[in-house]
This record gives sequence, structure tokens and C-alpha cells, in this order.
Amino acid sequence: MHYFDLHCDTITECFIKNCGLYENDLHISIKKAQVFETWAQVFAVWMPDDMRGEAAWNRFCGAQAVLKREAALNGIALCGNTDDLADAVEAKNRNAALLSIEGSAALGGSLDNLEKAYNMGVRMITLTWNAACEAGGGCRDGSGLTPFGFELVSHMQKLGVVVDVSHLSDKGFCDVVRATDAPFVATHSNSRAVCDNKRNLTDDQFKEITQRGGIVGLNLCPAFLGSKSVENILKHADRFLSLGGENVIAVGADFDGAPMPTGISGIDDMVKIYDLLRENYGKELADKMFFGNTYKFFKTVLTGCNSCNNII
Ligand SMILES: [Zn+2]
Repeated sequence: MHYFDLHCDTITECFIKNCGLYENDLHISIKKAQVFETWAQVFAVWMPDDMRGEAAWNRFCGAQAVLKREAALNGIALCGNTDDLADAVEAKNRNAALLSIEGSAALGGSLDNLEKAYNMGVRMITLTWNAACEAGGGCRDGSGLTPFGFELVSHMQKLGVVVDVSHLSDKGFCDVVRATDAPFVATHSNSRAVCDNKRNLTDDQFKEITQRGGIVGLNLCPAFLGSKSVENILKHADRFLSLGGENVIAVGADFDGAPMPTGISGIDDMVKIYDLLRENYGKELADKMFFGNTYKFFKTVLTGCNSCNNII
């Protein structure tokens, strides 16, 4: 089976705990991911809400260096554009990685840092974490995008860096709709109609992402599933499917960033979730949710981006 995961905090944990990616005590290791025929992973550098300014930028640089080192050590292809991704997945059958930032506070309020981060491989940014930052308010804050946030979204579109609205406030979501006409994503958010939590998407938000050609990653965190039972993921998938989400539903399990449901202790357990989806929706749809929708999305949106073959 093929697996493309939209969000994990593993590389941030490797940076903090000074450990490697091949074998470790984390949810994700390369050893565990050997169960997949193809594994593509978005690795996020997570920015806590009490870290801002230069400290935030330094943390990003430190974690990026860890991903670069681990990718080189383990033969993982760090991908920057469509060709990188296709070459890794289709031609060379290598594990593929994409770099993202969770919390644009990492940029320290600087568009120059956005360009630097792009040159260091970043192809997606979650605009906020739960509190407010230079770009706007997170789900616990409630405020919309700041003037810098609007500028940031517009520069991201020019560079081809994808906007991620997971963690963003509802007002911020509306502002993103006005600030860009590019497809955007929610990398790790479920359905608010199923589990009433501000981290989850309303039906209207899901429909907006769908109309834009974006994707939405199902999150395994019990607080957003609404249960410690992993089978609850089906309720969220059912809801999104009822809104026309066949080509939109993806997975952003939130490994190494969130507690996991009963029976899921690492990325190798995703096989159980794939089986659950296949039993309920059939192989074709399960394959789309697990890999196809996300692969197609990135192959489309990263067309004009620079390769990551020689990143700094
Ligand atoms: Zn998160």
C-alpha cells in the first residue's frame, strides 16, 4: 500500500530530542515506515506559541538542518517540485519528504525569511498555531489575518508555497479566502459537524477547500475525532464524502504531535486504518484517501517551484 501523510511533528521531535529518523522512540521512524510500498511524508517544523522572533527562526533553521541530514543519511528524497516528487515516487521508488512550517511565527514576521525558508525547501506553511502570531489569530484566539498575514499569503502564492488553514481561526479562514485564489489545504483537521471542536472544519469551510481544488487531511487525535476509538474516523470521512469530498479527503495523522487513539502506536499501525477504509469504501477510494489525492495535489501545485536537489 501507498501512504502520503500531510502532517507530522517528527522532525521537530528529532531536533528537540537529538535523535535520528531511522530508528527512535517516536511514532514515525523509517524502520516502521517500511510496511509501505511507497511512503511520502510532509514533515512540519512546529512553532510553539511562546516562541517568537529570532528564537523562532533559529528553531526552524535547526529543525530544517535535521531533516536535511536525515534525508541524506537515509536516502529520502526531499522534494521541492513536481519533478522531484515524480522522480522519487515513480522512477526511483524512494521515500519522499516535503518540508512545511506549522506556525508562521517561524518567519519572525519577515518576508525575507519566507524567501529564505522557500530556498531551504519549505513548500507549505500552517499560518498559525492556536494563539495569535504576526500573521493572525489561531483557533484559540479568534482574530483574523493581520495586514502582514495578507501580505504573507500573497507572497506565498507567488512562490508556490501552499497555505494550510489547520489551527487557524474562523475569521482567519474567511480572510484566506479573500487573500488568495490558489488552492489551499487543511492538513490535519476533521469535521466540526461530527466533533464540535474549533480545530475541525465546518461544512462550509470544507466545501470552500473543495471548490478551490484543495485537500483535507483526517487527524487521528482523539480530541478531534471525538473518541478514543479509531473507528470514529469513518464518521468524519462519511461527512466529508457527503459534501463531495471523494477527491479531497487525505490523511494528516498528526504523529509525534498528538496523542493517538487506542491501538495506534505508530505509523506502521496506519495499515489498520487503511484496512478500515478499504472495508467501508472499497480499495479505489481508500487508495485515493491514503495516497492518490495528496500525490495529485502536490504534483499540480508544485509545478512551478524550484527543485530541492541542491537546497541550502
Ligand atoms: Zn497541529
